[in-house]
Amino acid sequence: MHITDNFDSGNIRVITAADANNIQLEIKHDNQSDFYQWFHFKLHNELDVNGNRQEHIMQIKNTENSAFPGGWKNYQAVASYDRQYWFRVPTQYSDSVLTITFTPEFDSAYLAYFAPYSYERHQDLLHNAQMHTHCQLQVLGQTIDGREMSLLTIGEAGDGKRNIWITARQHPGETMAEWFVEGMLDRLLDEDDGVARALLNKAVFYIVPNMNPDGSVRGHLRTNAVGANLNREWLEPTMDRSPEVYLVREKMLAVGVDMFLDVHGDETIPANFVAGCEGVVAYDTRHKALEDKFKEIMLAITPEFQDELGYEKEQPGKANPTIGTHWVGNQFTCLAYTIEMPFKDNKFLPDDTVGWSDERSRILGRDFLTGIYHMVDDLR
Ligand SMILES: [Zn+2]
Repeated sequence: MHITDNFDSGNIRVITAADANNIQLEIKHDNQSDFYQWFHFKLHNELDVNGNRQEHIMQIKNTENSAFPGGWKNYQAVASYDRQYWFRVPTQYSDSVLTITFTPEFDSAYLAYFAPYSYERHQDLLHNAQMHTHCQLQVLGQTIDGREMSLLTIGEAGDGKRNIWITARQHPGETMAEWFVEGMLDRLLDEDDGVARALLNKAVFYIVPNMNPDGSVRGHLRTNAVGANLNREWLEPTMDRSPEVYLVREKMLAVGVDMFLDVHGDETIPANFVAGCEGVVAYDTRHKALEDKFKEIMLAITPEFQDELGYEKEQPGKANPTIGTHWVGNQFTCLAYTIEMPFKDNKFLPDDTVGWSDERSRILGRDFLTGIYHMVDDLR
């Protein structure tokens, strides 16, 4: 048996793996940070003496001090043989130990916290998109590890056009965010799609599919190469600590923002929801009306969206101004939402086989484009 995390977005430390019945593992911290929760590793297994597949009992031992201990309760890990189809595997949580019980059907399997979105797929996404009419691929600058901060601009600037910004994966372990963007982008670039065509008559889309490529490749949950939680850097980003936010923010200030969606995953809450700007200083009745309308529209579009479970509402003026959605919503007095998808499942529409998944995230991204279509005339 052999376990490795030596690949794009891998993360695991092996304590012992001598016996299939007793594999003990730890998740590595994000570099220069206390955060950890994302895991992703390959298990190469062997047949037993009778030539049968063996049950593997894998215990992740250090969940107690992970970023979101509540995320492990009722959580099921994902596995894949072909790195295309990811399915849930039996997982239990007790006494601060996450135990995955898995009998592989093939020689090698990948296990992960959620379906990974690789750096290679990220490049495919960007380079496929750039070949479409009205799409530009721009490099805003470099990350600390020397990767590109890539922005896709879809649509032609023009009089009265709204500027709609979408960012994803500030928290790199929240891979569902880039799956969501992939679904939205597929639809937006489809020249036969009436919603996309109508939207592009009225708006220009600025899409950053991966806000944190360094953290993504490093197998981080929440931070960039030097341990900065990018979604706490929006008030005063610097090129030394948070160039990812600095570069995107500069571009926003240059072109303006009429709507902002920042796409995330939530470790604990088993549902899709949004978190808005009710606590920002500039919040007013118009802002609230926009938020309420968008929520109503999304509720009408898809049962995958709901407004029962979510974060507690913030008190007026008390929102943390370093969070991306809050900074944008306040700076541009525009509709700005953080979208959260579950690592677990949508408890209102559960699927025991895959849970919340890459494909469901893609479909939700498509559905949010419909929602934007119904909002675009109200944005200014
Ligand atoms: Zn997040």
